[in-house]
Amino acid sequence: MADDIPFDKNLNLTPDTVDEPMPGVRRVMADNPGPFTFKGTMSYIIGRGEVAIVDPGPDDPAHVAALLDAVRNETVTHIFVTHTHRDHSPAVPALKRATGATVYAEGPHRAARPLHIGEQKALDSSGDRDFMPDVRLKDGEVVTGKGWSVEAVTTPGHTANHMAYALREKNVLFAGDHVMAWATSIVAPPDGAMSDYMASLNKLVRRGETTYFPGHGPAIGDASRFVNYYILHRKAREDSILHRLGKGETDIPSIVRAIYIGIDPRLVGAAGLSVLAHMEDLVTRGLVKTDGPPAIGGMYRLAK
Ligand SMILES: [Zn+2]
Repeated sequence: MADDIPFDKNLNLTPDTVDEPMPGVRRVMADNPGPFTFKGTMSYIIGRGEVAIVDPGPDDPAHVAALLDAVRNETVTHIFVTHTHRDHSPAVPALKRATGATVYAEGPHRAARPLHIGEQKALDSSGDRDFMPDVRLKDGEVVTGKGWSVEAVTTPGHTANHMAYALREKNVLFAGDHVMAWATSIVAPPDGAMSDYMASLNKLVRRGETTYFPGHGPAIGDASRFVNYYILHRKAREDSILHRLGKGETDIPSIVRAIYIGIDPRLVGAAGLSVLAHMEDLVTRGLVKTDGPPAIGGMYRLAK
């Protein structure tokens, strides 16, 4: 099912060491491998001498020390945060204390919609609720440093506050967890929303940056083509869900079993939430019916 996307899992980096995948862009991978993080969270360093850091990473003193070591004798003037999952933003306070840099982001952590009555926040532990930027950026705002300028690109869907950052001098986008080379992004309500996610993918295709540096995994070249694969994959997933409903299946666990063949058992919960994200979108568009708000334990049927 996922085979249609030309995934790239080639990444031979030693955690907490710096490399320079493109002149003027350095990266340091945190040592937090896992089913959601691949080999670790990528922190990026933009510029030379007076630099910006994108996504300081998890609350891990060794990673903060590695980042500071990578910019020794340089000044960190800006910190940009793509979103507030706990593998991306909790190192911000330590990095800010050490550097005095100003922190930029779309805003604090929030859900894409209000919680339904009785709904558990399934991935609640993944949100960094302590995060607050110094400066809240709006879509299209440009922040300028020494030798670089970065444009804020709102990309809600993976989280409501997800922001990508375009490095204008290089036709590069820091894509966070919105688009990644190694796997599809997780869209899990209530943090995430599928309709927002699809709109953000289409927005990136229209922008046309050629290279993405994602929050996890290797860089993505020919990025618009890759994003088109992502869009086709989601449409195929939607078709599969409609097909299963047409066959008489009614609940999310059965649909997950039918369409996520060979999935890592640790990702079954996330797959269920991803199907829920599609259900929310399909109900809003009038293609699927359920009783009450779409829920992970709900019963679904084609609207016909
Ligand atoms: Zn994330």
